[in-house]
Amino acid sequence: MNREENIKQISDTSRVWDIAVIGGGSSGLGVALDAISRGLTVVLLEKADFAKGTSSRSTKLVHGGVRYLAQGDIGLVLEALKERGKLLQNAPHLTENQPFIIPIYTWFDRVQYSVGLKIYDWMAGSLRLGKSKFISKEETIRRLPAVKQKGLKGGVVYHDGQFDDARLALAIAQTADDAGACILNYASVKDLIKNENGKITGLKVKDELDGTNYTLQAKMVVNATGVFADKILQMDQPGSPKMIQPSQGIHLVMDMDFLGGKDALMIPKTKDGRVLFAVPWHGKLVVGTTDTLREKAKLEPEALEKEIDFVLETAAGYLAKAPTRKDVKAVFAGLRPLARPKEGSTKTKEISRSHKVIVSESKLVTLTGGKWTTYRKMGEDTVEHFPEISGELLVPSQSFEMKIHGFTERVPEGHWSVYGSDAKEIKGLAKSNPELSETIHADFPNLMAEVLWAVRNEMAVRVEDVLSRRIRMLILDAQAALDSAEKVAKLMAKELQKDENWIQEELIAFKKVAEKYLIKA
Ligand SMILES: Cc1cc2nc3c(=O)[nH]c(=O)nc-3n(C[C@H](O)[C@H](O)[C@H](O)COP(=O)(O)OP(=O)(O)OC[C@H]3O[C@@H](n4cnc5c(N)ncnc54)[C@H](O)[C@@H]3O)c2cc1C
Repeated sequence: MNREENIKQISDTSRVWDIAVIGGGSSGLGVALDAISRGLTVVLLEKADFAKGTSSRSTKLVHGGVRYLAQGDIGLVLEALKERGKLLQNAPHLTENQPFIIPIYTWFDRVQYSVGLKIYDWMAGSLRLGKSKFISKEETIRRLPAVKQKGLKGGVVYHDGQFDDARLALAIAQTADDAGACILNYASVKDLIKNENGKITGLKVKDELDGTNYTLQAKMVVNATGVFADKILQMDQPGSPKMIQPSQGIHLVMDMDFLGGKDALMIPKTKDGRVLFAVPWHGKLVVGTTDTLREKAKLEPEALEKEIDFVLETAAGYLAKAPTRKDVKAVFAGLRPLARPKEGSTKTKEISRSHKVIVSESKLVTLTGGKWTTYRKMGEDTVEHFPEISGELLVPSQSFEMKIHGFTERVPEGHWSVYGSDAKEIKGLAKSNPELSETIHADFPNLMAEVLWAVRNEMAVRVEDVLSRRIRMLILDAQAALDSAEKVAKLMAKELQKDENWIQEELIAFKKVAEKYLIKA
């Protein structure tokens, strides 16, 4: 993926793209992937980095949604289970089959969850990841050594998928780019262009790195900007009512020994009726989440003190050793783009989490809602609108069968797994130069060669791109990421031919962001 080459492609003003996608999160990338699978020409414009928004801040689950099942949303669960199964097959390097244990403290819960999860298994059909079953108190304690034992009657084990969200976003971008799509980060859409009949025929884009403005022509424009969808809708129709209600969810990251084993913990109903997950991820434990209404859509939302307290207090109720603020290595917050409830109601938990595709009078196609797991189907459903908007024919989607960049039958071991088939080349790069075979940070296995690889092949242009989304150090251990920033910036500057000023500016910018991920004890 080469940014300069892709910039050249958008400089050609005579070109008319079949589809222009605004937004490089899971939704926009799903649209780009599906469009390219049908042989359409597609350009995707992301104003920051791929998955900078909500798509790098999820609970990291590829799931059917056990709780949506409890809410009776059968269609959503069936669709998500099918997508879950296929994603694990198409991207084995970025996903895992993760066993979850629900600790059981009452016999009613045993019946309820055993039956519910059998239905969940059955709904997944041939794409099932494993059979759910009840396990004894002794086995529950063996597999979750840190779980609270008082009153414990046993556990129900079930299987769901787990993934690296930002790396999957990048790999989808690479898959689409490999197949001919023009994918760009740091390219923000500033305006929409309409013809004399009021139909959208293109857009205005600004390269956020050098300030150059471009005008693009497209037969169909897709607004896949998550919590920012209203801003694009305002460009289309100034004064139109707000559609999106951001709802914040935070996660705390701590050492694995708070849980103890390789299994994840799932609490289907906390004291105040929420769901709590504690999931092993890249050698750490990710615990969350919350559901807090926020008024403003922000690229870098901040966890509220009350959310941090809530997660710590709730986790303490289920873990033998109660985590405290000083045990938290990082906190990250993300915003769910929920449909805004009708006047007077604020109950986002009850709003359906299924996605919606809306076509405006001017033919702007807005994709909203949904979840990471169903990104491909969301893309497919959006691209289906192409004939009605362009008047042209559309061939059937092939994205269900598309292997994701890096796909390999033999997934490399350890932290190399996320690179899939690329890992070999990165290891070669490390061998070529002793500086590149050094680790970025003593507590992490990642090598400096990965920084160079990210700049050369993964469109990383800022220190934050590398430390937050190419390798996930910022959300695994924010202090370690801060400590690594200078080393990373220097190597990036050398490769990108940037001066000392650039290094200093990058360090200031990274510090400003990274401090939001630290918790004050
Ligand atoms: C706390 C939390 C936990 C979650 N956990 C899970 C989970 O475990 N599993 C799961 O399946 N789903 C999960 N989800 C849901 C999932 O993460 C989201 O549905 C999904 O990431 C939304 O992606 P998106 O592309 O719509 O939005 P985003 O990822 O926010 O992408 C929108 C992009 O548009 C860009 N943009 C905005 N304006 C412009 C512009 N003018 N020009 C160019 N680009 C622009 C932004 O920079 C941004 O990158 C979770 C959500 C939250 C909040």
